[in-house]
Amino acid sequence: MNDTLKYKYAIGIDLGGTFIKFGLVRSDGQLLYENILPTEADKTASTVIANLISAVKKTQEYAQEQGVIPFGIGIGTPGIIDRTYRIVLEANNIAGWKNLKLADSIEQVCGLPVWINNDASMMGLGEQAFGAARNYSDVLFLSVGTGIGGAIIINSKLFGGYDNRGAELGHIPLFSDGVTCSCGSIGCLEAYASTTALIQQFENRCLIAGIGFLEKITGKFIVKLYQEQHSIAVESINEHCRFLGRGIAGLVNIFSPQRVVIGGGISESGSFYIENIETELNRYAVPSCAVNTEVCAAQLGNKAGILGASQWAFLCSSE
Ligand SMILES: [Zn+2]
Repeated sequence: MNDTLKYKYAIGIDLGGTFIKFGLVRSDGQLLYENILPTEADKTASTVIANLISAVKKTQEYAQEQGVIPFGIGIGTPGIIDRTYRIVLEANNIAGWKNLKLADSIEQVCGLPVWINNDASMMGLGEQAFGAARNYSDVLFLSVGTGIGGAIIINSKLFGGYDNRGAELGHIPLFSDGVTCSCGSIGCLEAYASTTALIQQFENRCLIAGIGFLEKITGKFIVKLYQEQHSIAVESINEHCRFLGRGIAGLVNIFSPQRVVIGGGISESGSFYIENIETELNRYAVPSCAVNTEVCAAQLGNKAGILGASQWAFLCSSE
């Protein structure tokens, strides 16, 4: 039997605020083709949809050259997705991305079935199917970046809560009197432990200490200073890991996962970062709840979204 018959093929799309990453994925997780297009999120919903359709067409052209027929399309998009996995209910970083029948719009033009879901959920699913948590059934994923997104996988199934309204892991309340969060609430994990928050806290400390830098302050720069034992960087990173560990402890006490996978650029800082989070997690979690839990860094990097969205299509089509 040749590969074309042995495997299924899906188009996976990771829609971000800046770029659309997309590719052709085989059912064993092999990424056969990948490409990138600008999102143009500040224009209109129609512009973004047209760009998504271009992404599908490019992938279809490649598939045709290879003699492969993709059966469907999975899309990870920012925002809350309805329970039929067809409509974006709301997302704040793409123009017109509200009550949008996204799956219909793509299906009508491309002629393939489409399943959509939240972008961070798709990354988590990718890591569980093909990355850092493959072979594990109970997994939490947190993507630490501008914000914090995540995924909950229970018994190998993505958990979205009733009506697919949940799994907003960045918005676990940490402090009752804290800073205002992007969601409108106060003191959320995201407002304290995102890379944006880390940079803010580092800059505040530098300001008080009267220290300035010529470079643009980024997560990567703070990590570099941490490795050079710069006291403000050490204090800021330790606090960042403490906030993350405390937030994750709350989740571990509820879900008792086998793996907590940390994604986002900062998760590639090195083993010290993951170990620091794990130490803080174990400080705050109920020991019996955390006994089977290991924290690890994501493995799929910026391909997690494409692979996860394809896996979503594989799973939905076989139900
Ligand atoms: Zn929030």
